Amino acid sequence: MAESTAAPTSDFIRQRIDSDNQTGRFGGRVHTRFPPEPNGFLHIGHAKSVVLNFSIAADYDGMCNLRFDDTNPTKEESRYVESIIEDIRWLGFDWQDRLFFASSYFDQLHDYAVQLIQAGKAYVDSLSEQEIREYRGTAIDRQSPVETVPGKDSPFRNRGVRENLDLFRRMKEGEFAEGEHVLRARIDMAHPNLNMRDPVMYRIIRKPHHRTGDKWCIYPMYDFTHGLCDSIEGITHSLCTLEFENHRPLYDWYLDELAVYHPQQIEFARLNLTYTVLSKRRLLELVQKGLVSGWDDPRMPTIRGMRRRGYTAAAIRDFCQRIGVAKADSRVDIALLEHCVRNDLNKHSPRVMGVLNPLKVVIDNYPEGQVEYLSAINNPEDPAAGTREIPFSREIYIERDDFREDPPRKFFRLAPGREVRLRYAYMVTCTGVVKDQQGQVTELHCRYDPLTRGGNAPDGRRVRGTLHWVSAPHACDAELRLFDRLFSSENPDKAGKGASWLDNLNPDSLQVLRTCKVEPGLRGRPAGYRCQFERIGYFCVDPDSTRQRPVFNRTVALRDTWARISRRR
Ligand code: ATP
Ligand code: MG
Repeated sequence: MAESTAAPTSDFIRQRIDSDNQTGRFGGRVHTRFPPEPNGFLHIGHAKSVVLNFSIAADYDGMCNLRFDDTNPTKEESRYVESIIEDIRWLGFDWQDRLFFASSYFDQLHDYAVQLIQAGKAYVDSLSEQEIREYRGTAIDRQSPVETVPGKDSPFRNRGVRENLDLFRRMKEGEFAEGEHVLRARIDMAHPNLNMRDPVMYRIIRKPHHRTGDKWCIYPMYDFTHGLCDSIEGITHSLCTLEFENHRPLYDWYLDELAVYHPQQIEFARLNLTYTVLSKRRLLELVQKGLVSGWDDPRMPTIRGMRRRGYTAAAIRDFCQRIGVAKADSRVDIALLEHCVRNDLNKHSPRVMGVLNPLKVVIDNYPEGQVEYLSAINNPEDPAAGTREIPFSREIYIERDDFREDPPRKFFRLAPGREVRLRYAYMVTCTGVVKDQQGQVTELHCRYDPLTRGGNAPDGRRVRGTLHWVSAPHACDAELRLFDRLFSSENPDKAGKGASWLDNLNPDSLQVLRTCKVEPGLRGRPAGYRCQFERIGYFCVDPDSTRQRPVFNRTVALRDTWARISRRR
């Protein structure tokens, strides 16, 4: 368990748990679970649920299970199981020996289904999928209640128990094709809640399952499975997202009819984030259409993507804790997530120098062939991080944007005749500008003041600008990838008339800079190494790197828009 993570604010959940504890309903126990379906990779929305379930359990000295909800072999794969396990571990949570699979309970679930048939509470229906939908009627529409169509009974609803048991057995034994029959709960076809109109419990799927192989060709539906798995595992509080609120009567119905141990379902609002989508289906579409490079594309809101981009687990936990858990849907500003990331990286990232868009500077009065090693502070936020030595020589690179031939007012960086400080090095004055035939500046000439070593003048004269730089003969070539928001609209799920959510994609979300020059000490750093390029942002070494040519992902820029937004409020 990640020790630093306090549970997110979640008053209504705590009130419920506290009152259950007072009445002794669960004997004072608190036992939650995180129940992913292994049909995709985890995203930041799942992280909210992971943090909530594990930290609530920890706060009450309880337990949290990891349970794969693997009841649909058409979409599930074991590679997703493995990645989900790895992602939750990376987030810093531990389920110890409590790793479970809904598929391990298939026998037990089947027996429960048989019990319901025997009690006259379930029947085999032979209507087609289409007919079942038509017979179901429509939901109560509060705006126009006249439109509401109650469901009508299937002609097979009154099959006798013996016939139902026989058909269900034959379904299980593989005598029928997909869609020929289903098992349905016998509840109420006129129920105001659509979920209660004889929901399907089992359907035939003739596909091998990643864990049970060919053993089954009938698979239980989510609503039937979920509550019973919670019950089998002795879960006390089953926390789920709001869209399951009107499934709760069904969750309760199965448990009550079977008279088994009965956990409490509690719903909370899903996480929505601005400028991104958080639905596995949509994320999958981005991957399949090649609009991103994969599930771990650093622009993806997946745990893999954020991790590759350089987000830390601590920052994600901090974010989940700050947003809290509410009962109403809302959209959280992605700037808050970026703020949490910046906050964490600021404390821990070593500072280094790197030039995105290099412009060569020749320091004419610096002795040719001389190299000096200058001391640079690794992290002003952390004195224990110490210092490092960086080479300085006659030829260096500075940022092209740090020079203007014709500087506007308030431009305090380099310009002809202007003196600036080179960070940790010397003060230099621009004495010459070399241009190519198109008039593009290709090189600058400067003179340095040998008395300003370390960056300060003994006569106390001041300069306004301090530039980052790297020594040209020592510099390491690097590629820098700068990411912007994946979508240009705050709520990309919402598309205008005739438009698709994909039209909201930001065409400029990736900018690749291939000719960057960085400090030589960054050569050969392992993938995942994080640093701050001074004045530019936080970066992280990408797995695409080679020893000679590292690739850096910009995790987040230095400027904190969230701090600005929250000040304005
Ligand atoms: P998606 O809608 O992305 O497909 P899902 O709900 O189908 O997600 P599951 O694997 O079933 O994905 O989710 C596992 C758990 O994570 C569930 O308890 C679910 O409620 C929770 N969860 C999924 N998305 C979010 C979200 N955006 N915010 C909070 N919790 C979420
Ligand atoms: Mg789901």
